[in-house]
Amino acid sequence: MAEATSAFRAPKGTNDLLPPDSWRWREVMELAMGKVFPAAGYAPIETPIFEHTEVFERGVGAGSEVVGKQMYTFPDRAGRSLTLRPEGTAPVMRALLEHRLERGPLPVKLAYASPMFRQERPQKGRYRQFWQLGIEAIGSDHPATDAEVIEIGFRYLVRTGVTPTLLLNSIGHLERSCRGGYLETLAVYLRDRVDDLAPEDRGRIDTNPLRTFDSKEQATRLVMDEAPVISDHLCDACAKHFDEVRSLLTDLGIEFTLDPRLVRGLDYYTRTAFEYVAGGLGSQNAVGGGGRYDGLSESLGGPPLPGIGFALGVDRIVLASGDREGGAVGSPVAVYVVALGTEAGRAALRLATELRRRDIGVDLDLMGRAMRGQMRDAVRSGATWAAIIGQQELESKEVTLKHLAGGEQRRVAVDRVAEIVLEGES
Ligand code: AMP
Repeated sequence: MAEATSAFRAPKGTNDLLPPDSWRWREVMELAMGKVFPAAGYAPIETPIFEHTEVFERGVGAGSEVVGKQMYTFPDRAGRSLTLRPEGTAPVMRALLEHRLERGPLPVKLAYASPMFRQERPQKGRYRQFWQLGIEAIGSDHPATDAEVIEIGFRYLVRTGVTPTLLLNSIGHLERSCRGGYLETLAVYLRDRVDDLAPEDRGRIDTNPLRTFDSKEQATRLVMDEAPVISDHLCDACAKHFDEVRSLLTDLGIEFTLDPRLVRGLDYYTRTAFEYVAGGLGSQNAVGGGGRYDGLSESLGGPPLPGIGFALGVDRIVLASGDREGGAVGSPVAVYVVALGTEAGRAALRLATELRRRDIGVDLDLMGRAMRGQMRDAVRSGATWAAIIGQQELESKEVTLKHLAGGEQRRVAVDRVAEIVLEGES
């Protein structure tokens, strides 16, 4: 007989995150949001999953691939255009400006861990709903801020087990003396070679010439290999800023590779741009990226407010940090209670509840399985101890506490179990 399965599937490009992988995912999230980011002064922020579409059009830029082609945009019942958040920085800036956080101490340091939505062509490491971890330092244009942010992302990735390579560039600021002038030079170069470019990239010369550096088309890439690069056209102030960022990173022992062709996909970036790449991910090898966005506040109607941040792809970190053994890694279950018989079952639930009240992780059989099955589940749960309750234990108000890895066991009074388990943990 064929097994009945649901007719429904998760939408294309989305993933169900299931145990045991979900443990690893949680570990990666908590390391960032519970340890590394707050330890550097970054406080958590949550913004809505959807925003008014203009936040992204004006913040990220209508000319960018993300806004132009990938957003999930829909009208609400009142006819307002809303968009599922494709990235985290514009919403964070919107929230900061709305609540006037810039009136407090600067820079404002915020961290988020949130799902993002982009209608891209799905492949390994590229999804339509994916998770990003990010930090933003808003209100300082001091190069030390750039160095701090870049170092935090780098150190965090190393701690997850990813071996990142840091690619670094400066894309200058928008004035004519800097990127503005360079873009004209680049457009002239591209126009002279328009026939050599891949047809799909030709339109970019006028709309967004910088993006031709990101083209995957072989023909375009050959042209870009010889193209003038922004780092040769930085104004004095941007060049000095970039020198200082590099010097600070060197000071901190962070190795980087200068990549004069690194441009970032979102329009708001200025000056420092960086990416963390990792091996083993195929074509989607960027585990994260970020940069300065000194004009973003103003494009959202706020005051001049420089900022820098990064976003790391959680899905890719989990892929790149390799296979961890055993589903039980990270399992919070310390004790598995094994019960023989109905009466013992009641005692088992009582013991489990008592231990849980003391924040000890406990699991137990809820299927009325035989002893063998329960012991197998105890091992699978990743628990350190099995607490076994049979007829004899019931009568003497004891349990047999078995160390699952070592195998040794002893009878102990029920009310001593918590103490012994906690002792073992400390
Ligand atoms: P971005 O916001 O485009 O700078 O992306 C920052 C990081 O988010 C990338 O380096 C990826 O690790 C991750 N990322 C971006 N787009 C996707 C996607 N469609 N699926 C999975 N991860 C993504």
